Amino acid sequence: VDLRKLALYTAGLAGAELKNVVNEACIIAAREESKTITQRHLQEGYDKMSMGIERKNNALSDEAKMKTAYHEAGHAVVSMMLENHMELHKVTIIPRGKSLGLTRFLPEEDKMYSMQREEIIDQITSTLGGRAAEMLFINTLTSGASHDIQVATLYARNMVTKYGMSKIGPVAYNANNENNGYGFNIFEMSEGNRKAIEDEVLSIIKSCEERARKILEENKDLVIRMTTALMELETIDAPHVYN
Ligand code: ZN
Repeated sequence: VDLRKLALYTAGLAGAELKNVVNEACIIAAREESKTITQRHLQEGYDKMSMGIERKNNALSDEAKMKTAYHEAGHAVVSMMLENHMELHKVTIIPRGKSLGLTRFLPEEDKMYSMQREEIIDQITSTLGGRAAEMLFINTLTSGASHDIQVATLYARNMVTKYGMSKIGPVAYNANNENNGYGFNIFEMSEGNRKAIEDEVLSIIKSCEERARKILEENKDLVIRMTTALMELETIDAPHVYN
């Protein structure tokens, strides 16, 4: 087991959650009648703990699988072309929990506590890459992108209302209806501010969406190759992608 890689993979987990990951890995290894627990078992244990149980793909039509494959290839290819993005770890179209597919990344170090503006922008861009691929390659939109949209919006909102990373400036607003920890809400805002914040959030999202679309347009071959590989193999890992 490459512990360093495993640590990156599970960054941010508490001790009890790590224990859970190991426990799940043991169960998976035992079910395979494996005598040892390997890196793959531990990573699957983490996927199971964080995303839910792997579901069988057989029930899905080839068309449904293909939509997921384009979507995930969209996330993966966009991420690969961005300078400040985490490294790609694996792409899969095997459904797990509520999600139809999954693209996982490995942070370079524990990025849970501090991210640069460029990294957040790249993260929003790759998050919107799945939806952008749907539009570009299958000329439709699926509801599967709704979680991505929520994630991208939360990142953009935090940039504007928490991190002072927009033209609004270094002002904190309680725009996510979070408790600020002081038991009272000190950041009420005027209608004017609300509008300015919403405009900023929308402008960040729109420019990231445009970036994702452009990257996919410039790398159509790669998206198609990755989609074909996903249809055949269902899961591809980073060494496969880069070779
Ligand atoms: Zn997605």
